[in-house]
Amino acid sequence: MSKQDYAEIREEVAKLCAGFPGEYWQRLERDSAYPDAFVQALTDAGYLSALIPEEYGGSGLPLSAAAAILEEVQRSGCNGGACHAQMYIMGSILRHGNEDQKQRYLPRIASGELRLQAFGVTEPTSGTDTTSLKTFARREGDHYVVNGQKIWTSRAEYSDLMLLLARTTPKDEVAKKTDGLSVFIVDMQEARKAGMTIRPIRTMMNHATTEVFFDNVKVPAENLIGEEGKGFRYILSGMNAERILIAAECIGDAKWFIKKASDYSKERVVFGRPIGQNQGIQFPIARAHAQMRAAELMVHEAARLYEQGENCGEEANIAKMLAAEASWAAAEACVQTYGGFAFAEEYDVERKFRETRLYQVAPISTNLILSYIAEHVLGMPRSY
Ligand SMILES: Cc1cc2nc3c(=O)[nH]c(=O)nc-3n(C[C@H](O)[C@H](O)[C@H](O)COP(=O)(O)OP(=O)(O)OC[C@H]3O[C@@H](n4cnc5c(N)ncnc54)[C@H](O)[C@@H]3O)c2cc1C
Repeated sequence: MSKQDYAEIREEVAKLCAGFPGEYWQRLERDSAYPDAFVQALTDAGYLSALIPEEYGGSGLPLSAAAAILEEVQRSGCNGGACHAQMYIMGSILRHGNEDQKQRYLPRIASGELRLQAFGVTEPTSGTDTTSLKTFARREGDHYVVNGQKIWTSRAEYSDLMLLLARTTPKDEVAKKTDGLSVFIVDMQEARKAGMTIRPIRTMMNHATTEVFFDNVKVPAENLIGEEGKGFRYILSGMNAERILIAAECIGDAKWFIKKASDYSKERVVFGRPIGQNQGIQFPIARAHAQMRAAELMVHEAARLYEQGENCGEEANIAKMLAAEASWAAAEACVQTYGGFAFAEEYDVERKFRETRLYQVAPISTNLILSYIAEHVLGMPRSY
């Protein structure tokens, strides 16, 4: 994939994003509000259904096109975090659901009638140690009864469906700790009427994230995806795509910061010359650019392997780590270049700075990527 790939899509996304300038995001932050109009515009333009095959009403585009869309959203100063999951969570239904589930959900997700953008994996007591999660789904006749708690379930208040990972066999009764976990589609409206409570968590950026409590929530057995007990591998199978897309968002953020910083450095005159004439200002921006370009190549390589159906675990993980580090380096350089003005809301630097920091922690933190590389690529002993 070259830099110019998907030029038309990028141009159209940029045009759409121009309708949602900094003031729009600043206003939302002040009210801790969800970017409804932005998400609706992306939905109406068909971007959030890019990965749904045409036979189910989507545009059937390859992962690299979805990556270009998200990169452009971030490069334009917008924040795809409000809706990016609508693009890829459906992959679990597409890859592991039965035909009835695909027919029931995918066309309505593609049209935007149904929002599937809540992903309930993380729990407060288990954190990164996913197989130790405690939320339990007990089979009772034609349904499951779910009890437990999730944390950091983003967009739960703005989603019609949730993809839920829960234990269906206790950890001490399975041969492998990755067994006994199952994936369900939860109808949020039904669940909220009968046992599900959602509590918003205020965070350092405007991210509609929540805690979700399940108190005897009934989920029809027909909403189980694939086989009971095999859910962990279904979730894993979607993670490479997620990492590549999040990495593309980081590249977009890095490009936004680099442009913002280099433009400003040419305009701002102190001591009778543009600050950008000083190498102390130039070099961090130039270095961030170099980091971003290297990470961008790795994102493209990971997407290429993914699209060829090859194992891209190493490349997807490395792409995510390097891109998140590049966006952070660019954010740092931009703050330093803007000086005091970086801290003023109206330039959006402080907002994007807070937003891009997340990517080194979620959806997977850097340490876990390094562990993956050490263990699975370099064959070193497992550390946990
Ligand atoms: C804004 C936001 C949105 C999120 N959205 C979602 C969502 O929609 N759905 C969802 O399921 N989750 C979501 N998450 C959760 C996110 O995936 C987790 O926060 C992340 O995976 C880290 O888990 P944790 O916070 O429990 O950290 P912990 O597991 O408590 O880890 C804390 C630190 O210790 C490190 N650490 C832990 N174990 C090891 C080890 N063995 N070796 C080295 N270092 C280790 C970690 O890398 C991390 O740096 C979100 C989080 C945030 C902050």
